[in-house]
Parts: sequence; structure tokens; C-alpha cells
Amino acid sequence: MSRIAYVNGQYVPHRHARIHIEDRGNQFADAVYEVWGVRDGALMDFDGHMTRLARSLGELKIRRPMSDAALSAVINRMVEINHIRNGLIYLQVSRGQARRDHVFPPAKTRPGIMITAKSLNAIKSEARAQKGIGVITRPDIRWGRRDIKSVSLLPNVLAKQAAAEAGAGECWLVDPQGFVTEASSSNAWIVTKDDVLVTRAASQDILNGITRRTLFALAENAGLRTEERAFTVEEAQSAREAFVTSASAFVTPVVEIDGKPVGNGHAGSFSLQLRATYVATANERARKRAPRPSVWLVAQRGERLVN
Ligand code: PLP
Repeated sequence: MSRIAYVNGQYVPHRHARIHIEDRGNQFADAVYEVWGVRDGALMDFDGHMTRLARSLGELKIRRPMSDAALSAVINRMVEINHIRNGLIYLQVSRGQARRDHVFPPAKTRPGIMITAKSLNAIKSEARAQKGIGVITRPDIRWGRRDIKSVSLLPNVLAKQAAAEAGAGECWLVDPQGFVTEASSSNAWIVTKDDVLVTRAASQDILNGITRRTLFALAENAGLRTEERAFTVEEAQSAREAFVTSASAFVTPVVEIDGKPVGNGHAGSFSLQLRATYVATANERARKRAPRPSVWLVAQRGERLVN
């Protein structure tokens, strides 16, 4: 079954999908992105990711490529035409295509938009989570606006590659003071010996994960104690449990940090329970906001609404 991509207003076979060599995302990483998890055909935390996309675009003064209604319809359509039951939707918006110049191009330049869809094996992802992952740590060498979901990801790529070479599932990044900021593509959490859920406070130092935010809301509803504060690698190594959150990993237990086991070295029950609750709740919310027929009409027009 052939994959379909969406590029600048058109649905095209994935293997024929192209952007121009002078797209600013390509030359300057002058672009932002979003990733939605899809579980059982439902887009998880849809509105949260849309809101963060708008924020990232606003912070970098990149024009919105189309209305939220049209974009929502295109994204839903991508899930459908690619037959995604479990997987990811990737969306990237650049400042557009223009003759290479560091200065922003003329205001009338159309933003570039591309969307891809990818299926994932839910059984494998679930097995990975039940087993838990090991993480390594590396200095956080990224720029000062990590709150913007920019495609400038080279330090993250290097960190993730270091983890892969070490046989680990993620790389936690550590600031010059010795505190964990987050991971290469997820937020880092610990569960203290008194059952407090701890993760770094949202600031320009980390990407404020949508999964992270949803988990806070779930934890607070369930009466669990939470703290937004920095923690060191040593504190994490002696914590009861540790885990990471992201749109693709949901909640994934961490069983080892730099070779030292966390807790009893197995996926923590607290973390696994949070994962189950997150998946069930996000899925239920996604089903409640399933697209209405009127949205499909917008999709028919919206797909060509790049202006
Ligand atoms: N932090 C970084 C650096 C990320 O790249 C990601 C996800 O890609 C996250 C955190 C988690 O964010 P979200 O839960 O919105 O996927």
C-alpha cells in the first residue's frame, strides 16, 4: 500500500514528495514542526499540538499556512488515506521558499508545509514500554530557545545517536549545573521515594511537551503529588522510578541511567499505570473530537488553501 504525503497543498505519493532546494527549512532550519501520536486510529492530544504549533510559528514570526479548520481536516485526512491505526503524523512548516538570504523573505512569501504519516507496530511499542529503556546522559549543547519546536535538531540527533551506539533507548541532557533538562526527543521524569512526580519546570530550557502537560492534568485529577523542579542525574539514579514522555513514546519507563539501575531495575508499576491511564484518556478524548462531516467539506477546499 503506497504512502501519501501532503506537500504545499497537494497529496502526492510519498516517493514523489519534493520541496524546493531554496526552502528555508532546508537552508536555515527556518521551520517548525509538530508530531501527533495515533493510537487505534485516533489522533492523541490533537488540540494541544495545534496550540503549540501556533505558538512556535508566532515566536518565529512564520505565517500560518492555512486556517486551523483546514489544517485539522488535512491532518485527519492523512490519517485516513494512509490507513494509520497506530503511528505518527509529522507536520513541518517553513518560512517558505526564497532566494537565499539570512534576512526574512518578503512578507508575501508563502510558508512551506509538508505532512507525512507513518505506521508503527503498537505491539512492539507496548513491549518496549513494558520492558523499559536504558538512558545515557550527555551535556545539553542546544540553543537558548528550546521551548520552540524548531527543526534545528542536530544536537538532539547526536545525542540520540550516542544513545543508540551505547545500546540505550534515549539520551538525557544535562545543563552546566548538573541538572537534567529533558531528553533528546522526550521529557524526563522521576518518581521520588514519597511518590511525588517530578519533572523540570517549563521555561526556555525545555520543550513543554504536550504529553507532559496532559500527564500533569491526569496526575492532578487523580490526586497525585507533582513538582516542577530540576533534578540531578544522581537523584534520578536513586529515585523510585523514572520515565520519559512524548507523543511517540507516550509514557515509557526508564530502568537504567548511565548503567545504574533505577529502583529494582524493572519498569516501574507507577509509570506503567500512568502510561495505561494516559493512553486510555487521550484515546477517549480523541474519539470525542472525531471530525464532523462539515470538516470534511473544509478539507476538500482546505487542501488547496495554501496562501
Ligand atoms: N522534548 C523534546 C526535545 C522533544 O523533541 C519532544 C518530542 O518530540 C518532547 C520533549 C516531548 O514533547 P511531546 O510530548 O509534545 O511529544
